[in-house]
Amino acid sequence: MPLRLPSLPYSKDALEPYISEETLEYHHGKHHSAYVNKYNDLIKGTKYEASSLLEVIRTADGPLFNNGAQAFNHDFYWKCLTPEKTEPSKELLLAINEAFSSIDAFKESFSNSAVSLFGSGWTWLIIDTNGKLSIENGSNADTPIRTEGKHPLLTCDVWEHAYYIDCRNARPKYVENFWNLVNWHFVSENYKQKCNVSKTCCSE
Ligand code: MN
Repeated sequence: MPLRLPSLPYSKDALEPYISEETLEYHHGKHHSAYVNKYNDLIKGTKYEASSLLEVIRTADGPLFNNGAQAFNHDFYWKCLTPEKTEPSKELLLAINEAFSSIDAFKESFSNSAVSLFGSGWTWLIIDTNGKLSIENGSNADTPIRTEGKHPLLTCDVWEHAYYIDCRNARPKYVENFWNLVNWHFVSENYKQKCNVSKTCCSE
């Protein structure tokens, strides 16, 4: 099914000074938008025309997978950010403490993964069907929802287009800034629902 570009859940200047209005103009208005448009062009006349985004992500390859997965990943990423100060729920905090010892150790480990990812990709906090939390890197458009039983809780986009306007080549600075914007309400809600994928996909 065709996708539409979801609106940002905040104004374009809301994430300043950590992520600038100019970055959001390009990242949402040009990059994310291009993935959605390309996806809509690519599914035309194929067997995927009536498929959900999740079905396409789980079964397609090549450009269709890449653009569909990038559409989902960006929609999820925008929801992971907020200008408001939020805190993890008690339940999520307990799970993080159990898996990573402490919230600070989790942040450090997630940041190290994000900074060390070679090339373009995404760093994820995921939960599996056993309730186990882990940090995973994915290259390019790779996404945990491709694998049944993996549910994303949080992601950081580490493609250079996410930070070159604000931080030039300094990915560590971007990742440091990211923690000021994490929407822990969204992450906690994902944990509670083990991320009901159908609710977070941008297909209508
Ligand atoms: Mn991006």
